Amino acid sequence: MKRSALPTLALSLLTTAALAEGGFYGDPPDATHPWAIHDMNRPQPVRVEPGTFSSQEKPGTPPSDAIILFGGKPEEIEKWISDKNGEPTKWVVKDNVLQCVPGSGYIRTKEEFSDCQLHIEWSAPSKVEGNSQGRGNSGVFLMGQVEVQVLDNYNNPSYPDGMASSIYGINPPMANPLRAPGEWQSYDIVFRRPIFKDGKEIDPGYITVFVNGVLTQDHTPLEGGGGHMRRSKPRAFPDQGPLKIQDHGNPVRFRNIWYRPLPKRAVDGGEYSRMSEEATAAKRAEIAKGIREDATKLEGNAKMLRLFESLCYAENAEAKEFALAAVNDFVAAMKAVPADKIESKKGEIMQVTKALRYLAQFKILAEEPAAKQELEAIIKANDWEPKKK
Ligand code: MG
Repeated sequence: MKRSALPTLALSLLTTAALAEGGFYGDPPDATHPWAIHDMNRPQPVRVEPGTFSSQEKPGTPPSDAIILFGGKPEEIEKWISDKNGEPTKWVVKDNVLQCVPGSGYIRTKEEFSDCQLHIEWSAPSKVEGNSQGRGNSGVFLMGQVEVQVLDNYNNPSYPDGMASSIYGINPPMANPLRAPGEWQSYDIVFRRPIFKDGKEIDPGYITVFVNGVLTQDHTPLEGGGGHMRRSKPRAFPDQGPLKIQDHGNPVRFRNIWYRPLPKRAVDGGEYSRMSEEATAAKRAEIAKGIREDATKLEGNAKMLRLFESLCYAENAEAKEFALAAVNDFVAAMKAVPADKIESKKGEIMQVTKALRYLAQFKILAEEPAAKQELEAIIKANDWEPKKK
């Protein structure tokens, strides 16, 4: 077997085992992790149909859940307005491309949003005019607040904190992967707004940028909005804002503009692997309730095991009482099975015992139920446990 095949195989074995076990598999929830390791109660990730990558000749397609801000249709200009006065913009759509008309002012989307994955492609004029900040200058303003610089820096040095994909006035890009003027450049941006509570910064907000597939900003913390010549200070942003594109006097062109809203961060009440103790307790109670509800649709051992599983997330006297009574009934029934028929019950007995072992190992129940010892005795008498090497 090739070495590279091993991790995939190990992963698929784990997944199959987790599915077969239901719960009682990986380490249980704790004070800051509402889910167990490999928890099948955890929601499956939302299905998204991926899009296609762009070529110079043709823009790609967005993923299925993207919100399109400009996809090449002339009528999509109506999603944008003049930032100056809210009137229809004088920017134009030519050959399915949105183009800045110098002197007409910034544009902004009618739509407002905040944390997002943003994709935007731009092309500086192929006729090179000017230098430094005067050449193919525009800018993408997330929430209308912070500029990811658009600038033709192909063989065109400028101040680094104002170069293409800099967080303008805050942080230079880590690299300059620009193509020649006239060619299409793509920005893939992950934006997280600053979060303030009671005037205190909880999270500075971050921007990550890939330029033509090359990482140029790696989770760069924001310091306010940035700006020209003046050092900006951390500050709260509004809850939402428009996307703005700059008119800096150059006829820069844009295509294939879309975004995907991002789920909330843990600091903002989002559901992450690690959460605050308070949020974890609330989530564990919610998960336990869902499992108990699921158990009402089940019968027999399946119902009993599901109720035991719910106790891994939150205590519940009724669920515990029902499950303990059910496991006692199960033991009584197994003890009544004639010795020559007991082999047919091996699967059930092993499954229930594994669950009880898990509950004991992680001290989920205050006391180990007597049923566990009785089932262990049946397993030992029948020599069902694989011998330890
Ligand atoms: Mg600019």
